Amino acid sequence: MTAVAADALEGSRHPGRWWHALDDGRIQCDLCPRDCKLHEGQRGACFVRARVDNAMVLTTYGRSSGFCIDPVEKKPLNHFLPGSAVLSFGTAGCNLACKFCQNWDISKSRDMDRLMDEASPEAIANAAARSGCRSVAFTYNDPVIFAEYAMDVADACRAQGILTVAVTAGYISPEPRREFYAKMDAANVDLKGFTDEFYVKLTGSKLAPVLDTLVYLKHHTDVWFEITTLLIPGKNDSPEEVRAECRWIMAELGPDVPLHFTAFHPDFKMTDLPPTPAATLTRARNIAIEEGLRYVYTGNVHDREGGTTFCPSCRTALIERDWHRIDACRLTADGRCPECATQIPGRFVAFEAASQFGRRRIPVRLRA
Ligand code: SF4
Repeated sequence: MTAVAADALEGSRHPGRWWHALDDGRIQCDLCPRDCKLHEGQRGACFVRARVDNAMVLTTYGRSSGFCIDPVEKKPLNHFLPGSAVLSFGTAGCNLACKFCQNWDISKSRDMDRLMDEASPEAIANAAARSGCRSVAFTYNDPVIFAEYAMDVADACRAQGILTVAVTAGYISPEPRREFYAKMDAANVDLKGFTDEFYVKLTGSKLAPVLDTLVYLKHHTDVWFEITTLLIPGKNDSPEEVRAECRWIMAELGPDVPLHFTAFHPDFKMTDLPPTPAATLTRARNIAIEEGLRYVYTGNVHDREGGTTFCPSCRTALIERDWHRIDACRLTADGRCPECATQIPGRFVAFEAASQFGRRRIPVRLRA
């Protein structure tokens, strides 16, 4: 925890939820399993939640590090409104401390000046509708730490028929998890490795709460979710660890949860490692398929086979992708294989090649 004088706290002071007073005079944040215990004027490990006047505040409510329109495949979500545009934004800070963070300029930000765009929930929903986005994604940093803001944005979006997507590490405590996911339509959850040693040493967190979130999503919500594992050479890419992860997914979540293996690029505190070879992603994908998972993808590489959704019954190539662009979609409007009528799990609508968003990324400035 970072001790700072209360009057030196930058950012907004939106009332924070999920905390309680301790007998020793500190207050404990109950939002994520870190359980930060704070004296007056201290920030939590995520840096954006703080104790001010004996209560928790969220200092990033209504402020963003920037908005972009992305393809939904970039989140990555391959079974959720394929080809559609999603208005994406993040704030600052993070409740994990990944040494390999691929968005470290945002997640490790201690500089509230990075938060350029002020945006009310209604302004975000309006911007999504105006720009033809089917959904809004909380991404770039973890929405758990700005849950009050993300949930209000989700309410504003629902009022306009816009869906919401959480891109998250899944590191959240049970009570806020229930409230948070009641507002979300889809999620991509990082399963960053499959040993506690990896989680503790390289992310500053623990594996078990992430697994709990995945089981919760599967068995207690209607949220559409997919899983991403960033494979880091020598750290979490052994065939044994990948197989253990896939066996757990099969046993606890079943064969239909899409799994994405993505490539690491040297960044932040791990610049001494090479990028992940494409062959490592392919090997992991093959292991997952051997273990019975039906929808396994490779990401951050050009790999037509690893980017394609195949019918698990007749092996027809249903959605062919190259990186984040869809080259062919043969799914019926209700998400069935046109050859054998097998229902593909996900959220699908009629796909129109001409209107797909494609492999673009468009920065957007919002007016409140
Ligand atoms: S959300 Fe932030 S303040 Fe709360 S327990 Fe997690 S890291 Fe600590």
